[in-house]
Amino acid sequence: MKLFKKMSIGVIALAALTACTPTVNQVEDHEQTVKNPSEETADHLQENNDENKKDSDQAAKNNNEEKKKLPTLAETITKGENGKDVVTNPNDILVVANKERRLPSDYIPDDLAEPNVPFTFEEDVPKKLMRKEAAAALESLFNQAEKENIHILAQSGYRSYETQQAIFAYNAKRYGSEEEANKVSAYPGESEHQTGLSMDITSSSAEYQLVEAFGETKEGRWVAENAHKFGYIVRYQKGKEQITGYQYEPWHLRYVGIEAASHIYKQNMTLEEYLQ
Ligand SMILES: [Zn+2]
Repeated sequence: MKLFKKMSIGVIALAALTACTPTVNQVEDHEQTVKNPSEETADHLQENNDENKKDSDQAAKNNNEEKKKLPTLAETITKGENGKDVVTNPNDILVVANKERRLPSDYIPDDLAEPNVPFTFEEDVPKKLMRKEAAAALESLFNQAEKENIHILAQSGYRSYETQQAIFAYNAKRYGSEEEANKVSAYPGESEHQTGLSMDITSSSAEYQLVEAFGETKEGRWVAENAHKFGYIVRYQKGKEQITGYQYEPWHLRYVGIEAASHIYKQNMTLEEYLQ
């Protein structure tokens, strides 16, 4: 019993959550049915082209409307306990959690799955999990990297509120105050890992560590230049510390979808700026 009591509560929290590790299904094929044009008259083709043009105009219009409908940061918060802002859209692919905006303490993504990518460890633990869409996109990113002879490994994905709470409490005890603990760990609710949309990655060239030097490795550079094609951004950029509230973290990838990721990458923005 004594031995059990001595166990870190973080370990207990982790152990309690290891039961659920579904695997992501294969990414669905997006094959489309193609008509045989030889069976159609030129008139029909012209008509179809007009139709297609109308369709693409409509798609562009819808896209613009979609853009306009993006919730701004101010629209997605409410005052929680202690006057801290709590996000109202934790399930949104574009949710922003940071030092000013907490995730609800009871928020657990309902579609967590394990991406089929190499990890730096073997155990089946919750930190292998991500939301299904993000997990599938991560698989695509890793597959393309492998094709280009870039070897990356996943290190840390989903983290529950309770685990973050346990880590924070442990650090507060260890360092003497919450303030000190906050220098090395996020307050519960303020870690983006709770969204299930983030994954920390590393490589052998970075000695399997989550360190700034990863950004200078061949793997780190490849990821910075290509992640957006798969809907990922390097969330905490150099020179953007005042906006994100975090130091440069070349290893921390965040899924936002291809459209947002491409825009953010090309404009050298942060997620916060994209949603302002
Ligand atoms: Zn991270």
